[in-house]
Amino acid sequence: MGQRQGRSLIDRPEHMNVTTLFINGAIRTMDRARPTAEAIAADASGRILALGTTAELRDLAGPDTTVVDLGGRFVMPGIVDFHMHVISGMTTRLRSFAIDAGDDFEAVLMRVRKAAEGKPEGAWLTGSAYGATALADIEKLGIEAKRLLDEASGGRPVLLTHGSLHGAFANGAALAAAGIDASTADPAGGRIVRVDGEVTGLLEESAMWIVDGAVPALGDGEIVDVARAAVGYFNSVGVTGFSDAQSTPEMIAAFRTLDNAGELSTWAGFHLSASRTCSTWSKEAEEFLSRHEAACGPHMVAGNAKIFLDGVPSLKTAAMIAAYPGTNEHGEMYLSPDELFAEIAAHDRQGIGVKVHAVGDAAICRVLDAVERVRAENGDNGPWHHIAHGQYIPHEDIPRMKRLRVIADLNPPMWFVNHASLAHERVVGKERYATVWPIRTMLEAGVTMAVGSDWMTVFPELSPWQSLAGLLTRADPSGRLPGVHSPHEAITLDQALPLMTRNGAQGMGLGDKTGQLAPGFSADFIVLDRDLHAVEPRAIADTKVLKTFFEGREVYTA
Ligand SMILES: [Zn+2]
Repeated sequence: MGQRQGRSLIDRPEHMNVTTLFINGAIRTMDRARPTAEAIAADASGRILALGTTAELRDLAGPDTTVVDLGGRFVMPGIVDFHMHVISGMTTRLRSFAIDAGDDFEAVLMRVRKAAEGKPEGAWLTGSAYGATALADIEKLGIEAKRLLDEASGGRPVLLTHGSLHGAFANGAALAAAGIDASTADPAGGRIVRVDGEVTGLLEESAMWIVDGAVPALGDGEIVDVARAAVGYFNSVGVTGFSDAQSTPEMIAAFRTLDNAGELSTWAGFHLSASRTCSTWSKEAEEFLSRHEAACGPHMVAGNAKIFLDGVPSLKTAAMIAAYPGTNEHGEMYLSPDELFAEIAAHDRQGIGVKVHAVGDAAICRVLDAVERVRAENGDNGPWHHIAHGQYIPHEDIPRMKRLRVIADLNPPMWFVNHASLAHERVVGKERYATVWPIRTMLEAGVTMAVGSDWMTVFPELSPWQSLAGLLTRADPSGRLPGVHSPHEAITLDQALPLMTRNGAQGMGLGDKTGQLAPGFSADFIVLDRDLHAVEPRAIADTKVLKTFFEGREVYTA
């Protein structure tokens, strides 16, 4: 069928104005009608006119056509990353020093000393992101850890972020700048950790926002620079579409500036912080949703909202049906069933899709119950809604995901062995961790899934290839850490690639524009240094992007 579609276009070359002809590629299209091709013809706007073999399309080249030889390389649609924290991630990348997830507290202090060198007195130092080893050391040291951090920074305020982005560690200077002392009450949905009444510097959930709010914010021009740097970084790792998971009107305005200037070489989706459960909530973000279409440039979509329902397992704040092992803690939820239903229903009526952060099984059930009520009241034709993270989905609820048109927003750190996944496993217990991310089961049940890196949670580097290798093996792609998480939930390469391309585009409402290479779609694709089908799954993790094309234009070259 795809063959016929291609030929019908080729038969009428007079209708085509081929600006660029890409030949000699080993192209995987993600188009069900034509899974492979060698050549792509695109027009001046970067739209695909035809795909076929090199021999079939060569005749379409006119005297003004640029012919690009893909050198026999593996070519696929650009990665569509379904869950990112673009501005905070890139700001951290540009401004903060990196902490390795495996660092102990001694190693963290060394990094702080290095970051402090030459910095003016009073300058903020931010580091990202410590893991379970450093956290255990900090907890053991108690008040002393905060003092050591003051000493290492030379009295400069320091805020270190935990890999989950749901917890942080601040020193005395940072706490003072934020106005936190022993008399400060815990904020709603957060905890200022204390020992014998004294503040330790560890901050959980909403308590970390108090100190975060004291870090000097980006200026107007700076946010555009950060957005521009992010786009360049994304293109360099093969990303040509992203969905920001917690967006503000300022952020969207920055990307609009880039789009107007022709500098936005990726599709950009946004989920407004329109719920009070978001750290970045504002009245403006709520109001923005009624004018989102006018506010967006041609490569942007912002008709989505974000809600946080629970926290993360590593801090025991994800809402679980059964208590965390060895405790009587079940985590917590920030909205009652009625409140959650009311928020989703109001958005759904306006055609606004909602991404709900729900990790624990209790939270996931509450989301599905709410969407079930929404569909019953508003009708079945409302927008798709998403469950972000959702890794502890009860298996009996999987059919509801499909029936209610809820997309599973899958995030890599939990489906293959790494420092963060092992830390989670220790908190929730091996038995419960064995149920994590039943991706193959969900695929077989017909659930729509899309991969979002959740960058920069857990991994400082954005690596779609590490995520992909992890989907295929559920083991540590570097081979350093032993073990495999639920190997029976591994999927094949052909099953995994649409989750990283086509499905994310569909979930963003761009399913007719990008995410696959087919006539009428944007020529957004990447050229890789290896044939993903020819190498061992583990070697996929080291894949390098040689070139990235957006709308037929080369936007990155290695
Ligand atoms: Zn996230």
